[in-house]
Amino acid sequence: MSFPVDRPRRLRRTEKLRSLVRERRLSITGLVYPMFVCPGKKVRHEVSSMPGVFQQSADQILEECREVESLGIPGVILFGLPESKDPQGKSSLAADGVVQRAIEGIKKAKLDLLVITDVCLCEYTDHGHCGVLENGEIVNDATIEILSEQALSHARAGADIVAPSDMMDGRVGAIRTKLDKHKFENVPIMAYSAKYCSGFYGPFREAAHSAPQFGDRRSYQMDPANAHEALREVALDLEEGADIVMVKPALAYLDIIRMVRDRFNVPVAAYNVSGEYSMVKAAARNNWIDEKRVVLEILTGIQRAGAEIVLTYHAKDVARWLKA
Ligand SMILES: [Zn+2]
Repeated sequence: MSFPVDRPRRLRRTEKLRSLVRERRLSITGLVYPMFVCPGKKVRHEVSSMPGVFQQSADQILEECREVESLGIPGVILFGLPESKDPQGKSSLAADGVVQRAIEGIKKAKLDLLVITDVCLCEYTDHGHCGVLENGEIVNDATIEILSEQALSHARAGADIVAPSDMMDGRVGAIRTKLDKHKFENVPIMAYSAKYCSGFYGPFREAAHSAPQFGDRRSYQMDPANAHEALREVALDLEEGADIVMVKPALAYLDIIRMVRDRFNVPVAAYNVSGEYSMVKAAARNNWIDEKRVVLEILTGIQRAGAEIVLTYHAKDVARWLKA
């Protein structure tokens, strides 16, 4: 017995009915807003490929953080554009580095905001790779030493969560050990566990000045064709002490988000990356799509796939739309 008794359209007739039976309600409680910190004062430079996203000095970051807080968004993630770059990305460790100073500013202002920091070397190395080089190769174990020092310096500055994005093997364990040794056992690690080697990162490289100067990142980021490997990466990060695992990018990897959500009992984050943002912005500027409708649909899709936490450049817009 199906039609004419079963009529799914009965529940779609009015917005009241649709709303009553809606399976998922988009909320901003899991959103994280990414921000780019640069040196200087009163610097606010829009990233041309990412309208509405700025490279900003710490004072301006603080101003925008006030806005983010007032919109009810729970957290931000900071990326640093340092004053100087070198082969080892040493400026990422400085107590007065761009990210460290931005964290301190936000914490001093006592904003009700989680401050998450991206932990990686690509913004700080002159060659733009996420690790240090030896004979033209990105070497793993020397890199995780520096990364764990960087995570420690972020924790010292007041970071609430550290988020390693480099995809080196063993870095979560190295960071956990380093943090614990210095009494930061309560600082959680959000691991970029399944980070794919993706063309969707294009605009970010302009935003973070982090394009590799030679070669690509295929020797450490994951092959887009692989799903089982993502589960292995997540399992390893959890064994090493990750508290939250992330899938990045989001839209071409919704199946991975769902697989991770179904197999592991930890919070799952997804990064709605720069290219995903820029495509929406570009199409909206041409009036080819309805921006608000498309953004809400995308974020609903990412949450429906299983991500409790979504890092997205759309966070402020979404907060405004959901408030209205
Ligand atoms: Zn990197």
